[in-house]
Amino acid sequence: FVTGKRKATEVAHAFWRNIVQKGDTVVDATCGNGNDTLALLKMVADETGRGRVYGMDIQDSAIENTSSFLKMAVDDEHQRGLVKLFPICHSRMEEIVPKDAPVRLVAFNLGYLPGGDKTVITVPRTTELALRAASRILSSGGLISVLVYIGHPGGRDELDVVESFSSSLPVDTWVTCKLQMLNRPVSPVLVLLNKK
Ligand code: SAM
Repeated sequence: FVTGKRKATEVAHAFWRNIVQKGDTVVDATCGNGNDTLALLKMVADETGRGRVYGMDIQDSAIENTSSFLKMAVDDEHQRGLVKLFPICHSRMEEIVPKDAPVRLVAFNLGYLPGGDKTVITVPRTTELALRAASRILSSGGLISVLVYIGHPGGRDELDVVESFSSSLPVDTWVTCKLQMLNRPVSPVLVLLNKK
């Protein structure tokens, strides 16, 4: 299942597919170039038009990239309209996701924008605030998925914060685990938080 050839994002998507259903509301906390946003749109979109993907990124350029990527990849304008994009920090996700929408998945793909400004990266303080916000808006049975890159400076500090937040969650309401390749020490780590 987890092989060296398979990208870490694809492994994350396989977990998402086990949880997300058509018509769900989901959150992409780090849109970047829109690959995860598109994968999520495909998982939630149905003919009734109920599914929603709330996407955010701190960089305007990432929001633009995601928007043009979706235009290229999805012909159906109505379906594209199921994605709502916001140029804000993910620690503020509660301000944009409607209170009455049960959220099935919050996805984080941490680090910097591939092909973009490598100095703008997710940082431990706001990542922790965003994880707290995600844990509040997630519905019962939902999943927080965090892909953490540890090859760049600061990556391991961020993993520490993600792991300590995950370890602190009460065992009666959360199942938390991590997936790490043992024979590739700097490959990304996937942390999964399942709300019971
Ligand atoms: N999911 C993306 C995709 O499929 O292309 C890749 C995401 S990229 C690894 C990480 C993104 O996080 C960057 O685009 C960066 O701008 C964004 N980011 C950094 N700090 C952020 C913050 N505080 N809130 C939201 N996004 C942030």
